[in-house]
Amino acid sequence: MDFGDSHEEREFRLRLREWLVHNNPGLPASSTSDEYWAGQAAWHQALYQAGFFGLSWPVEVGGQGLPSVYDVILDEELATAGTPPRPSMGYLVQGMLRHASDDVQRRFLPGLVSGQERWCQGFSEPDAGSDLASLRTRAVLEGGEYVITGHKVWTSYSDAADWCLVLARTDPDVAKHRGLSAFIVPMDQPGIEQRPLPMINGITREFGEVLFDGARVPAENMIGSPGEGWALAMTIVSHEREPGELGFVARYKKLVHELVELAREDPSRYGNEQLRDLGWAMIEAEMLRLHVYRRLSDRLDGISHGSEGSVDKLLMTAAEQAVGHAGLAIGGGARPDGDDTWLRVYLYSRAQSVMGGTSQIQRNLIATRLLELPTS
Ligand SMILES: Cc1cc2nc3c(=O)[nH]c(=O)nc-3n(C[C@H](O)[C@H](O)[C@H](O)COP(=O)(O)OP(=O)(O)OC[C@H]3O[C@@H](n4cnc5c(N)ncnc54)[C@H](O)[C@@H]3O)c2cc1C
Repeated sequence: MDFGDSHEEREFRLRLREWLVHNNPGLPASSTSDEYWAGQAAWHQALYQAGFFGLSWPVEVGGQGLPSVYDVILDEELATAGTPPRPSMGYLVQGMLRHASDDVQRRFLPGLVSGQERWCQGFSEPDAGSDLASLRTRAVLEGGEYVITGHKVWTSYSDAADWCLVLARTDPDVAKHRGLSAFIVPMDQPGIEQRPLPMINGITREFGEVLFDGARVPAENMIGSPGEGWALAMTIVSHEREPGELGFVARYKKLVHELVELAREDPSRYGNEQLRDLGWAMIEAEMLRLHVYRRLSDRLDGISHGSEGSVDKLLMTAAEQAVGHAGLAIGGGARPDGDDTWLRVYLYSRAQSVMGGTSQIQRNLIATRLLELPTS
């Protein structure tokens, strides 16, 4: 397979590279500080306005209808320039494209794609993470509105969100998967309280818990039909698990490259184990890169994926955690100048095996759905 750029791709890459020279926001390149999250909205909007975001999404919803390879070029150039990656909202877009009515898509997708309206995803609850279908948040129809009561947790971007895609129980009398519906809920209303949750790496702005106490949402903000919430959630999480959606591959490669440079500055500082960790991170990052190219190639051939997203997610987790581990081994906990960026990279990498479905759950899915092994 030829991995080189076509003429059009090269032209796009050079145009983007030039734009980045003048428009690098100077934010941390990864989620290691609050500054990174505070600058996300402006970064998203700047990319979009310059024509560098939503590249592979349909034109009707604000995208550019280009092949997915343009997203990969974008990811590579952002990583090379040391900017934050493209904001990872693709899974919400994919979920809406598949399940929302034309009216809902027309109303909500342009703001989501352009970054003018901020979104969060309210699925997990204190007693419903891996076993999402047992969630207890309820939505009850009153006139033309649903009234929502419940407690969501680990809701990324909830502090800045205008809208929350909430999964709630609308029918308690059917099998638990069947009684769920999905809503686009306005966050700015009296029935919603958002409480930030500080993370171990010092970030306070990335996510929070969201309490719904009689929050209201117009019935027309339901995505799909009553009871379609589970199908929508599965579409979203399967896309959330694809590394290609997240644009992290190029970032891992860049981080590994920085660690190699660091090790080269003074090789005598590092023992065999540290260098082995670095070598392993290089291998994991490269394996993931080639895997994503394969996925991309499938996509260009019109092959779409479902449960295979679990394989992607496991490989991505292995790469992120190998890079985090090497960061700690080579970059150290805190450098003499007080810079503890590598420690923060390491700490954030621990979350990768939990967010978007834990590694144990991915293995269960691979066993039952892909390998068709018996469940008992
Ligand atoms: C950084 C980050 C961002 C997140 N963002 C969001 C967000 O925006 N929106 C949202 O809704 N959620 C979000 N989450 C939540 C995430 O989806 C859940 O944390 C995850 O699904 C696990 O659920 P839990 O934390 O309740 O753990 P639990 O489900 O309680 O799991 C605890 C442990 O038991 C294991 N386990 C549970 N069931 C099984 C089983 N059947 N077989 C084998 N092992 C099992 C798990 O693997 C895990 O090790 C985020 C999480 C993180 C870390």
